[in-house]
Amino acid sequence: MKEVFGVEEFETAFYYDGNDLGSVYTKEATHFRVWAPTASRVLLHLYKEGAGDNLITSIDMKKDVGGTWYYKAFGDLDGVYYTYLVTVGGVTQEAVDIYARAVGVNGMRGMVVDLKKTNPLGWAEDKPPLCRSMTDAIIYELHIRDLSSDIESGILHKGKYLGLTEKGTVNSEGLSTGLSHLIELGITHLHLLPAFDYSSVDEAAADTGEFNWGYDPENYNVPEGSYSTNPYRGEVRIREFKEMVHALHNNNISVVMDVVYNHTAKTIDSNFNKIVPDYYYRKEGDRFSNGSGCGNETASERVMVRKFIVDSVVYWATEYKIDGFRFDLMALHDIDTMNQVREALDKVRPNILIYGEGWTGGHTPLPMSKRALKINASSLNNIALFSDDMRDGIKGSVFAAWERGFVNGRWEMEETIKFGIVASTEHTEINYSKVNYSHAPWAASPTQTINYASAHDNLSLWDKLSSSNKEDSILTRIQMNKLASAIILTAQGIPFFQAGEEILRSKVKEDGTFDHNSYKSSDFVNSIKWGTKGEAIEVYNYYKGLIAFRKAHPSLRMKTTKEIQERLTFIRGLDANVVAFWIRKDIESKSERKTHSLPLDLYVCKSTQMGAKDDREIFVIHNANRYEVEVDLPAGSWDVYIDGEKAGLEALYTIGEVAVISPISALVLVKS
Ligand code: CA
Repeated sequence: MKEVFGVEEFETAFYYDGNDLGSVYTKEATHFRVWAPTASRVLLHLYKEGAGDNLITSIDMKKDVGGTWYYKAFGDLDGVYYTYLVTVGGVTQEAVDIYARAVGVNGMRGMVVDLKKTNPLGWAEDKPPLCRSMTDAIIYELHIRDLSSDIESGILHKGKYLGLTEKGTVNSEGLSTGLSHLIELGITHLHLLPAFDYSSVDEAAADTGEFNWGYDPENYNVPEGSYSTNPYRGEVRIREFKEMVHALHNNNISVVMDVVYNHTAKTIDSNFNKIVPDYYYRKEGDRFSNGSGCGNETASERVMVRKFIVDSVVYWATEYKIDGFRFDLMALHDIDTMNQVREALDKVRPNILIYGEGWTGGHTPLPMSKRALKINASSLNNIALFSDDMRDGIKGSVFAAWERGFVNGRWEMEETIKFGIVASTEHTEINYSKVNYSHAPWAASPTQTINYASAHDNLSLWDKLSSSNKEDSILTRIQMNKLASAIILTAQGIPFFQAGEEILRSKVKEDGTFDHNSYKSSDFVNSIKWGTKGEAIEVYNYYKGLIAFRKAHPSLRMKTTKEIQERLTFIRGLDANVVAFWIRKDIESKSERKTHSLPLDLYVCKSTQMGAKDDREIFVIHNANRYEVEVDLPAGSWDVYIDGEKAGLEALYTIGEVAVISPISALVLVKS
């Protein structure tokens, strides 16, 4: 059978392009439609509950157009659970609708849902905060449990969606935690680790503290149940997820979902495979290929797989008003699929963020030229990729705890840092042969690069510095951490950091060692320790100041490569381990560069998300040496806004002619 899949005749004959797959609810009737072109029979089972022996009825579905099976059930079915019994080649298996919008406990059955009833108060008026460019985003990567599970969070709904709706929470020292912490910090985008229904955590035992990152997809179009207050009733997790989004939007924070369409938790017995055996996955001979490293990989190049991915993100962006998507192992998806995702989301709202990992998790049969790889970025339309060049160049490889980078003492990293500063784009003043990984620019535009020093994978930034620089004092390591953040937050492109980096987050296991892969570790390891915020308050204030400064200066968020080439110049003739650049005035700022025009009648950019605009010239110096250095300044006087100690919107002091930069620190100047 598998030879048929992917053949053009099959793809054309059995393509279904309707928008009614799944169960479509109205008060009078519910329409069920499932794509199962190889099935000889499909039965619809209706149940009272999401689990257990409570079948209401079993109904034969009718074969319909484009390989689909259809049934119209009269009556109000809101809250009725359902499955499909699909017979292929004489084998009958019970599956959950892959388009299910609600499910019962542990996602074992779909549920018909009246989505209107799940909208929280004020939802119709909820307007996602929008900005003029993807480079305006400042992304904070968070696991839902981590924000609230610590006792010191002061949050009532620990580990839940609702924990993100609680404002005004504090730790025992009275310092803000949770949502209020995020608002004060000033991030624009909250990136949530997988929050669609995944399979690893037993939702029936969610309060026993089971933890998982959630990269094991079960039901793609449904929120995960363990973060809800009631995983048994399908509508509860939907409403609570929306309440979370609404609370964040009300505070000018956009929401990004981490999506994992590249593989499913189960393979042979997944819902995909029970409904249309072998269609959804790539195979090599009889074996499921395993480019994800998790047992299988989906075949995005097939029309109905591609449609599923596009339909799914559009659904989240419309029904849940999601503002961005981070694609896990994006290079397992083909370029056409990713560009269709872009096109479809652009029709929902402008500037929905799309970014992903430009690599795979193992060998894939998808040809190199078709993969959404970092090196193929220029074929991806307005889609960003993580810069592992910057990530490792700044503090050493994620695969070698001992290895150092620019901020913590490795020599000859200047060109790598410069490459990150121009967001991996083309710039005549960079010697690409000296960049750590990429020996040519890979981003066509600064909107294509995510610059970062830490993420959920690998050691936290603080643990990395503690591992690579054991002999250095805590104060020295703090200077390294601050320099790393100053580099990321004054670079072009899109800055990103792991939750808690701003308070020196550490993930220490019960045995005292650092956890570099805490995907199923306990809350004890993973939680953000709010009790440590006070000790790290100077670092926290520094991040806060850097973020405010970035938001105030559009020159740090340029939209095109051409603009960076015209305005950003690197300073030559500096000491080793020093990088400096000068951003000159935007001569075209009055005429406003037109790259993305927003339909402002639909969604107005909330200016409060970015703050007042400061267009003055900027001069930035990063000194990674353990001694102070001097750098000649362009003529005129310069106000210091950021140095090794402080960062913010107030000028600290004014200098001219020569800048003196303290050991391991940044100096950021604005023309007086
Ligand atoms: Ca689940």
